[in-house]
Amino acid sequence: MRLAILRLPMPQTASRLHAFTESVIRGMSRLSSRHGAINLAQGFPDFDPPEPLLAGLERATRGPHHQYSVTWGAPRFRNALAAKIQRDTGLEVDPDRHLVVTCGSTEAMMVAMMTACDPGDRVVVFSPFYENYAADAILSGAEPIYVPMEPPDFRYRREALEKAFERKPKAIVVCNPSNPTGKVFTREELTEILALAERHDAFVILDEPYEHIVYEPHRHVYGAALPGAFERTITCNSLSKTYSITGWRLGYVFARPEVVAQARKVHDFLTVGAAAPLQEAAVAGLEMPPSYYDDLRRLYTRKRDVFLGYLRRTGLPFTEPQGAYYVMLDISVLGFEDDVRAAEWFIREIGVAGVPGSSFFRHPEHRFLRLHFAKREETLVAAGERLEKLAGYIADPSRVLESRKRLGL
Ligand code: GLN
Repeated sequence: MRLAILRLPMPQTASRLHAFTESVIRGMSRLSSRHGAINLAQGFPDFDPPEPLLAGLERATRGPHHQYSVTWGAPRFRNALAAKIQRDTGLEVDPDRHLVVTCGSTEAMMVAMMTACDPGDRVVVFSPFYENYAADAILSGAEPIYVPMEPPDFRYRREALEKAFERKPKAIVVCNPSNPTGKVFTREELTEILALAERHDAFVILDEPYEHIVYEPHRHVYGAALPGAFERTITCNSLSKTYSITGWRLGYVFARPEVVAQARKVHDFLTVGAAAPLQEAAVAGLEMPPSYYDDLRRLYTRKRDVFLGYLRRTGLPFTEPQGAYYVMLDISVLGFEDDVRAAEWFIREIGVAGVPGSSFFRHPEHRFLRLHFAKREETLVAAGERLEKLAGYIADPSRVLESRKRLGL
């Protein structure tokens, strides 16, 4: 006997969640593994963290670090972090008053946004932008307002930024070096942004996980360390990219004590704390000598050169990153009207996964595929060899149509 289906009204989920989708970046990782593609979509390394971190991890497993630590960060970790930030920025950092340790920069950004914004506030976001920012703003009850950065060099127009500030935003988000554009903001640009924020009394939320991945002749400028800027900035950062530990989920918020006091509350009630043994283990990373960061820059410069070499041979235009490890490949010549479909075609036909560019842009923009090169050289060579197949499709567009038909794309 079949049971009659009762049609009772069901409670509906919060309407603000309908304003954004699940992460396209993480979704592409799943699609990539389903089809056995080389995953150049979600940005993370396929190589191990440096040896001192692995040794630190082994030591931490046997240490007394298996219970909650101080909610805003294990003391040893915060001390080492404060020393590193002080060395990098020249700012005096008090580990007890200026820092909140979070679960990655992802939580740091959410904490920063919830600390800065009341429901109904506005937040300026450059477009293209790292997809979390819009979701962070919406989850905080704030409304993102977008200022376009125009390809290929991704400069913003000062008038557009001034106009956005006239709408009285509570904060502006600056990802520097920028994901996905690879733009490294100059001292002049940061000074201009900070001056506008000061004039309109807004916070500047800086997201800087790629601070050490910057290519010559570019230099990372810490927005918080510009003259008179610190009080107005909330810096979010992560150890993920610098030490190749994206799975450890370690990040932090760095701001003036009054802001940190509030941010601690948001963090405490969201997560209580980042993983205690991993904070202990990561101290070894924070204590690495300056030469480590020079080597990291050289390592990524080499990866960039190898990967861009292959891209050049495809004949497709792409953005040359000044920092971070992403490239926006212009795939318009392949004739896809929809870049999500193009990304699936890349996974299934070329065997390389990227992220459809439209997930980073506010306005309709379907010509890019974002690829990253935080991979071992042999992975980059294998991906590069697959990407070289593109030349054949460009020379004969009917082959694209044929393969799309075959794959039902
Ligand atoms: N920052 C990385 C990217 O843009 C991944 C971040 C994440 O998935 N949390 O791909």
